[in-house]
Parts: sequence; C-alpha cells; structure tokens
Amino acid sequence: MAMTAAETTNYFLRRAFELIGMGQRYEVLLMTPSRELRVELAIPMDDGSIGNFIGYRVQHDNSRGPFKGGLRYHHDVEIDEVRSLASLMTWKTAVVGVPFGGAKGGIQCDPRKMSQAELERLTRRFVDAIGELIGPHTDIPAPDVNTNAQIMAWFFDQYSRRHGFQPAVVTGKPVQLHGSEGRGAATGRGCMLAIRECLKHDGKNLEGSRFVIQGFGNVGSWFARLTHDRGGKILAVSDINGGIFNGDGLDIPALQKHVAETGTVVEFAGSKPISNDELLAAECDVLVPAALGHVLTAENAGDVRASYVLEGANGPCTAEASDILDQRGIQAVPDIWANAGGVTVSYFEWTQNLQNFRWSESKVNEELETVMVSAHRGIREAMERYKCSMRTAAFVRAVEAVKVTTDMRGLQ
Ligand code: NAD
Repeated sequence: MAMTAAETTNYFLRRAFELIGMGQRYEVLLMTPSRELRVELAIPMDDGSIGNFIGYRVQHDNSRGPFKGGLRYHHDVEIDEVRSLASLMTWKTAVVGVPFGGAKGGIQCDPRKMSQAELERLTRRFVDAIGELIGPHTDIPAPDVNTNAQIMAWFFDQYSRRHGFQPAVVTGKPVQLHGSEGRGAATGRGCMLAIRECLKHDGKNLEGSRFVIQGFGNVGSWFARLTHDRGGKILAVSDINGGIFNGDGLDIPALQKHVAETGTVVEFAGSKPISNDELLAAECDVLVPAALGHVLTAENAGDVRASYVLEGANGPCTAEASDILDQRGIQAVPDIWANAGGVTVSYFEWTQNLQNFRWSESKVNEELETVMVSAHRGIREAMERYKCSMRTAAFVRAVEAVKVTTDMRGLQ
C-alpha cells in the first residue's frame, strides 16, 4: 500500500537520520508531533442552516522557536496530511535558519462553495477554537492553499478582540494591515531563487530555460511572473479547471489579466488545452508542481521529461516518485528549501510587527535572497559531505539544527 503523507515525510527523515547516525531515541522524538488539536466548528450558513466543519492545528516541534505554519482550507484536509505538513515546517524553518518551529492547520471545507460572509464566520470561529494554543510567541499561522491575506486579516482581528492589538499572531496579512511588503510574492520568489541557484550551479540560466507549472495560485503565478520577467519560457500552466500549453512560451502578464477577468487559466488566447497527465509529462527543463501533494507517484514519475522538479508545493512527490526521479538523474529541488521563501518573509513580517517597524520591499527581497542563497550553499555542502541527494542533504541540515537545540534545551 502507498505510504501516507506523514509516512512519506518520515521516510525522507529516516534517510537523513541514518546518514548522520542519529539514534532511535531521536527518531521517535523528532517524528512525533508535540500537540494535535481537532475542533468542531459550527457556524450559521447564509441559507439559515448550520454548517459543521472540522478544523485542525498540529504543532510539531518548537525547539528552535515558536511553532509556525500555514492554514489550508480544502475539502481533503485530514489529520495525516496536516501532521506531515507540520513536520515539513519544522525542517523547512531549520534548513533556512529562521528561528521558528513547525506547525500546520486547516479546515475541511470547500471554500469555492462558500460566500465571503461564511468564510469570515468560519475563520473567526476557528480562531476562537484554537485561540488558547496560538499567540505571537507560541504559534503563528499564515496562508496556505485557499487562504489569503483577507483571511489572515480576519484572523488577526478576531485574536486581537480577546488579547489586545496582536498583529504578530499571524503572518501573510494585507500590507495595509500590518502585513509585510513582498510577502505575497515571497514563496514564488523563493522558488525562482532556488532554481536560479541550481541552474547556475550546473552552468545554466533562467533565461531561455523552459518551465511547466502545475497550479496558478499564490505560488505558481508569482513564480511564473518572476521567472518570465527574467527570460524564462513558461510553456504550460494549469489550475483546478484545466491546463494550457504554448510551445513558444505563454505571455504571463496577459495570462494574469485573463485569470483576473475569468478566474481561470483555461481558454487563454493563443494556447491549447492540455490535460494534467500531459502537463506532468511535458518536455521542459523545469517541472514545477505548485498545487497539491502527492501528484508525482510511482505511476507517473517515469514519464517526467524535465531535468529538474522544483517543489513549489509541499510534498508533491511520493517516496517512490522521489526515488524514481533520483534513479533517472532528475534533480528534485526539495520543498523544504524550494518553497521556504514564504516562511522566511513571514519571519520578516513577524519581526516588523514585534518592533512596529516597516521594511521596504527591496530590503525584504534582498534579505530573502541572502537566506535562500546561503541555504543553497549549506545544502550543497551536505550533498558533498554525504554524497546524497539534494532532498536528503536538506533534511540532514535541518535535522542537525533541530538536534542541537533539542539537546541544548534538554528533555526535563
Ligand atoms: P493557492 O490556493 O493560492 O493555489 C493553488 C493552485 O492550485 C490554484 O491555482 C488551484 O486552482 C490549483 N489546483 C488545485 N487543485 C489542482 C489540481 N488538481 N490540478 C491542478 N491545479 C490545481 O495555494 P498556494 O498558496 O499557491 O499553495 C500551493 C502549494 O504551495 C501548496 O502545496 C502549499 O502548501 C505550498 N506552499 C504555499 C506557500 C504560501 O506561502 N502560500 C508557502 C509554501 C508552500
């Protein structure tokens, strides 16, 4: 049977543990979440009925700093995946060296079928339900799939009603409401920097390289725009409604206009439709899964015709897919580094909030670049040291960092 999302993360972790000779004691300690909360959220719906939803917050590890991780609103949200995503956050914050631990949360719901008023009530109810376990120095949520700056604004407002002015309780807020310049673009920008560094390492460039992107939300669309600006050719993109292809490269600014007007990438002028399977198997230099988890599996990893798989999404590869890519010499650029730009700028937002001070966009972008480039150096050094894949090297760096703080703090 295929591994679950949490088992997959532990599979990758175990490999790092084995390489650096970590004992069994750490394995259990570092794979087990510190705390898991499941809450029932009952809210009045617009039609007068009662909507019943289930929400989760999983806090994985806080030895390096307060728990940190996004909130996902999706009909597939369930505890195993939230556990996996919380664990990935622990390793992500560690690999880029931002002083946070790892957490993740979500609500099982279909936001596409809900009104803005219902989403607001659901968010406020969730804040009340998990309110005792979060706080600016305890656990700081952020946006993820189907959540955005508006939802973070309601989150901040609801928490502040009980606790006084607390902008640092959540990141990814609107820039006008204590958010940070550059946070919206941060994950896509981090992905662009990650692949830029990999290409540079291999004597190549963003300019002229060909990209195929699954998902055109926050991460996928910003990545497309920033990469297109630098001369990258975006051959295909998709969203939940379907995919589009143009072998000469899509006009990304025009596509963004089309998405703003129609709500989807499909039927973009000058493109032809492409199925999800075709998109994942399209010939290109860099395949960028930037939607959901476990989209590359034992069944389709053999079809990938890219030199790099840049993991904009969290956990897009199953364990088997990751091994197949390794065997085929396709470089998987691992999620815990590739998409760490979001949590890095969340850290900048948090520090700005705590100081009531604002950074310029250029300062945010410069600092983000420094963090991503320095993490790349660390990962390459671990690849050299252990003769291992980039994913294992990233986990090695992260586990070493978490082990140090765990030991220093002690278990008593
Ligand atoms: P989003 O909700 O803004 O966008 C998701 C996109 O994926 C949308 O375009 C949606 O239509 C598309 N999609 C959904 N199901 C699909 C399917 N079956 N086939 C093709 N496309 C599909 O979410 P996001 O914030 O861009 O997050 C995307 C991924 O990146 C997630 O895995 C998330 O965990 C990860 N991530 C996000 C951030 C962040 O800062 N937002 C940070 C790190 C990692």
